Amino acid sequence: PDFPLFKNALAYAKDPNNIAIDDQILQKQFTYAELVFAAASLRNRLLAGKADLEEQRIAILCPSGFAYVVCQWAVWAAGGIAVPICTSHPVAEQVYTVTDSQATLLLVHTFYQDRQAALVRETGIEVLALTEQELLPSGQPATLPGLIEMDVQRRAMIIYTSGTTGKPKGAVSTHDNIDAQTSVLVDAWHWTEKDRIYHILPLHHVHGVINALACPLFAGATVEMHEKFDARKTWQRWVDTEEKDKPKLTTFMTVPTVYAKLIAIYKAAPSNDQQRYRKSCNQFRFMVSGSASLPTPMREEWERISGQVLLERYGMTELGMALSQPYDDRLEGTVGFPLKDVQVRLLAEVEGSEIGTDVSETRNVPGLLHVKGRNVFKEYWQRPEATAKEKVDGWFATGDLVMRTGQKGYYQILGRNSIDIIKTGGEKVSALEIEREILSCPSLAVADVAVVGVPDPEWGQRVAAAVVLDANETLDLDTLRITLKNRLAVYKVPSMLKVVDQLPKNAMGKVTKKDLVPLFL
Ligand code: ATP
Ligand code: MG
Repeated sequence: PDFPLFKNALAYAKDPNNIAIDDQILQKQFTYAELVFAAASLRNRLLAGKADLEEQRIAILCPSGFAYVVCQWAVWAAGGIAVPICTSHPVAEQVYTVTDSQATLLLVHTFYQDRQAALVRETGIEVLALTEQELLPSGQPATLPGLIEMDVQRRAMIIYTSGTTGKPKGAVSTHDNIDAQTSVLVDAWHWTEKDRIYHILPLHHVHGVINALACPLFAGATVEMHEKFDARKTWQRWVDTEEKDKPKLTTFMTVPTVYAKLIAIYKAAPSNDQQRYRKSCNQFRFMVSGSASLPTPMREEWERISGQVLLERYGMTELGMALSQPYDDRLEGTVGFPLKDVQVRLLAEVEGSEIGTDVSETRNVPGLLHVKGRNVFKEYWQRPEATAKEKVDGWFATGDLVMRTGQKGYYQILGRNSIDIIKTGGEKVSALEIEREILSCPSLAVADVAVVGVPDPEWGQRVAAAVVLDANETLDLDTLRITLKNRLAVYKVPSMLKVVDQLPKNAMGKVTKKDLVPLFL
């Protein structure tokens, strides 16, 4: 069968005005016809007479824009496996990705000439350097070259996990996995050809490459691709829709830290700018938050500023998205329900027995989330033991502890069993719950917080909080404890506190908690 993403694109390409990518580095728009044509041309170049790349890993180092998409599609159409490289990672991380995936070729944009040199020196990988001019031969072909038929069960992409719990693992997805991850979200979030996404996410994670890129392209929408996020430029671009007659944006999706930065700029702006910013949010149909837990005060503040109730969803590199708030029902503090065709089950943490599927049996009972479905990845690259451990009879163990709440049994994420669930004095405590409470006490003046478990001979682990304070504020442990005393059970109240200038975060804005623990030792 044809790979639906390509099949759709060939149909969209028939309309010569249908814009696929609005590349902000080049300040140039590319139609679906140009995208298909460029991908097919590069595919031919990669094949160089061969019939098939036979699942060779092809690493891609391109800024977010047209070139990246052409490379990814060309690799797929040639039968290779695409390995996106994080453009903001230090060279050592990039070397790890190239080496671990055993990539044989690096498609690199000339934009990254300098970075590429070190990467190539250390890995010895063969390079194909590309400019847009090379990608897009001048003139339009009379007919569009078709893309080859896909065996959808073949491996398509290796995406490395964030490395929150250990070394990043390469999660291998097939074309069928990607199709499932994409098509279900297109329906759930009502993507259409009329949409235009403001895209600022890195492309080496599912959030940026599936939700924010594959979905719009699947639906015939336009992706306005920005090299990276900049809070001031973002507000400016949003007001430019009306003030400078730029194309209307309909959707935006990102991680909680990005919303925090937009809020900070908004708050610091003079009131007439605030009004312009606020008004600019009306053009959006919906906005999404995910990848990390969204604190309630941030959600509320964003709603006050933008009028937008953020849609929260839960996903992983290994799954794409698994749970999402329904488009029309966004209960605070939850991630909604399993998406269509995604099966889930909860297992009791200690006994491993299944917690019933009836909401009345499962409400407020924490369980480890397991997921099954066409969206679930094939395997960890070159890690058969890890695959066998986490994926049994098609059920993937996410490692996240969740519970169902409310009358309808909305799913709530309690956190990763290995880091966010702190075992202290025989009690199990969700770090996310404590973080949420700390942020919702205005008197503490905490701008950002991460709660971690610190090894302790007496308690097993102690609850420790690292906080970033608002400007010119102070906080000591006693004040923190007194403030939280009436809000949290005594064993949940942090017994260690560190005030820091900023929290360590990875490219996706997730706190790298394992780097925080040593601060308390
Ligand atoms: P590694 O697997 O390498 O340790 P990681 O699990 O952080 O890193 P990702 O696949 O990028 O790598 O992230 C998936 C994790 O992100 C989930 O397991 C979950 O813990 C967290 N997550 C995703 N969405 C949400 C959300 N809406 N709320 C809370 N946590 C979320
Ligand atoms: Mg993980």
